[in-house]
Amino acid sequence: MPVRPEADRRMFVGGEWTDAADGARLPVIDPATEERLGTVPDAGPDDLERAVAAAGAAAPAWADAGWQRRAAALRELAGRIAERAEELAVLDTRDSGNPITGMRADLASTPSEVLYYAGIAPEAKGATFPAGPDMLAYTVRQPYGAVARIIPFNHPFKFAAGKIAAPLAAGNCVLLKPAEQTSLSALELAGLAEDLLPPGVLSVLTGRGERIGAALVGHGRVPRVAFTGSVPTGRRVLRAAARHVKHVSLELGGKNPIIICPDVDPGPAARAAVKAMNLARCNGQSCGSTSRLFVHDDLRGPFLDALAERVGELRVGDPLADDTDIGPLTFAAHHERVLAYIAAGRREGATVLTGGGRPPGLERGFFVEPTVFTDVTGAMTIAREEIFGPVMAVLGWRDVDEVVARANSVEYGLVANVWTRDVSAAHRLAGRLEAGYVYVNGTGKRPLGTPFGGWKHSGMGKENSLEELLSYTRSKTVAVTL
Ligand code: NAD
Repeated sequence: MPVRPEADRRMFVGGEWTDAADGARLPVIDPATEERLGTVPDAGPDDLERAVAAAGAAAPAWADAGWQRRAAALRELAGRIAERAEELAVLDTRDSGNPITGMRADLASTPSEVLYYAGIAPEAKGATFPAGPDMLAYTVRQPYGAVARIIPFNHPFKFAAGKIAAPLAAGNCVLLKPAEQTSLSALELAGLAEDLLPPGVLSVLTGRGERIGAALVGHGRVPRVAFTGSVPTGRRVLRAAARHVKHVSLELGGKNPIIICPDVDPGPAARAAVKAMNLARCNGQSCGSTSRLFVHDDLRGPFLDALAERVGELRVGDPLADDTDIGPLTFAAHHERVLAYIAAGRREGATVLTGGGRPPGLERGFFVEPTVFTDVTGAMTIAREEIFGPVMAVLGWRDVDEVVARANSVEYGLVANVWTRDVSAAHRLAGRLEAGYVYVNGTGKRPLGTPFGGWKHSGMGKENSLEELLSYTRSKTVAVTL
């Protein structure tokens, strides 16, 4: 059955499909047309109580089920995702405005992320310690019970499925809260997992962040919170979690630098810089977008020519069309926010090389032209704050110490990107950049299992790795006197 976004959906709580207890609903808006597609429940505290009670009831048996049983469920889930990939990609495109080619790429990579955690599930193990002949000392890793998984709007299905896998593999029940703007595919995920997981092991609570999101973080029987989203919300989560001294991991925003060294060919480097913005994946709405381009002064002219040419080739339009590179941004308030950043760039004295507003001929929908600013200084708003859209700021550099200091001068530290043919320069720069993940001569491709997570205000903890699996366990030491 193809998924129809045009419907009033129910959410999945404690093994049942349900409306919000108080009947509240949120509209689902098509970002390409601004038309209403349907509605989803706006969950509240009563719904959370049901989900938490169901998780509490399911948790002991799920923890005792053993990793083989849990890994088998995840493997089956991965297979079902692969079977339905095209449908889910179309649904995410309708819901988010991300181009269909980008959402196909999201769906293509998701099954392997789920399989990865199925594969490493038995690594949630302990150790023994030398304690002498009269004592046995060892550690065991046990799940938390209920884990809150709060996710943003930019990779709806990929995050929903990819981010439940580690906590489930480790033996937890998961309370998943998708972004209120892009909830549809998370509900499809619940449908795919419905007969694979015992009731209560997975609940999907749709609704607003300030309502169900805040309630989840504040609930006394949800001891582990994993949040992916913006820095300001991350701070709110951290504050609210303090009351119950929860274990929190945060995957937050970035204002990522790409450093173009003088020894590279400017044409391919400019194309790579565009690719590293993730425009054709999610319209530049990516935490990993390298939106600060530090281009060596010797390359400035040819680099800017190649950059303008490449950006000019990008097709903005219907996100469902195979030849579209950039669709609309995901929701109205974000569209206004990105346009306000472009206005700030102009007001503060930067020069628009290309783009700069709503594309001509696209009067409806949350569209923004891919935009490149030059003559940017480090003090400007567009060089300091995450825009989370198709906006690039080009800055020049000459001295390597100075470019490192400027790259590191923002509060963020998620990723950084270096382009050079000089092996020593590459490793030295990688060592000095304040970022949790550094790409050298690459555009965001991350091998499975390599830890991802920000430094500084960009987050706490690592995901996509063994560290993530272990973060959903608590270690207990047992000392036995023999
Ligand atoms: P956001 O912070 O507005 O919302 C993220 C999620 O938090 C949503 O589900 C939202 O409903 C919920 N939320 C909002 N207020 C809450 C509260 N008080 N308590 C609990 N939950 C609450 O972020 P967004 O606009 O959806 O996403 C964009 C941001 O996410 C960007 O900053 C981007 O860089 C970041 N991001 C980071 C990563 C990463 O891996 N580091 C990945 C993707 C996106």
